[in-house]
Amino acid sequence: TMFNIVPVSAFTDNYIWVIHDQYYAVVVDPGEAKPVLDFLEQKKLKLTAILNTHHHIDHVGGNLELLQQFQVPVYGPGSELISTVTHRLKEGDSVYLPELSLRLSILDIPGHTAGHIAYYGANLLFCGDTLFSCGCGRLFEGTAQQMYISLNKLAKLPDETVVYCGHEYTLANINFARLVEPENQAITQLQILAEKQRKSDLPTLPSTIAKEKACNPFLRSNQPEVIRSASNYAGKPLTDPVSVFTAIREWKDKM
Ligand code: ZN
Ligand code: FE
Repeated sequence: TMFNIVPVSAFTDNYIWVIHDQYYAVVVDPGEAKPVLDFLEQKKLKLTAILNTHHHIDHVGGNLELLQQFQVPVYGPGSELISTVTHRLKEGDSVYLPELSLRLSILDIPGHTAGHIAYYGANLLFCGDTLFSCGCGRLFEGTAQQMYISLNKLAKLPDETVVYCGHEYTLANINFARLVEPENQAITQLQILAEKQRKSDLPTLPSTIAKEKACNPFLRSNQPEVIRSASNYAGKPLTDPVSVFTAIREWKDKM
């Protein structure tokens, strides 16, 4: 079957991704209900499931109000406490969405939160606040090493995988990426495109794994220019990729 995937904007920079066909819709990380309900009504769609990637309120805050109108299963990370979740998931599990004939597998990707999960299937990746276009989530509950491993797991997905992130952070992320890798022309090209999109009020998302591997400094800890910049920031030579990743994550946090 065919379906569309569209971003519904919430708060200042959240995207609630809606996967829908002509009749049915599934939402990913509905931080608020109102914009989702408006979209469903406008398109005359019936909600059939809610997917949550992690417990932060800007990703789950709309669950309860949506459930008051639609009695649907709520999928979420098994190791996080989200009171509205009915199906608790971990890596190895999968979710089948029969109305859309879509199966999504679960990946454990801790770092931003301790139990953060991603939904992956049919060349689609819903990764919440772990991987952003040209950036990655802050380390609220996990270690840099955990986040490094999680991001590498995502980087190993096929190049053509389409990446649906939880926030519109691309322009700020690109500014930082250019500090880390001034010579990387792929970042410069991405900036030209992203600025054009934002001026027209268009989302810069989704991305792809191929684009992220070319531009995202947090997936590029092996690149000489990234190693050089991270070492320069740390004030000592860094060699292993986890130390390089840790340094650029700290550097970005201080921007
Ligand atoms: Zn979050
Ligand atoms: Fe968030």
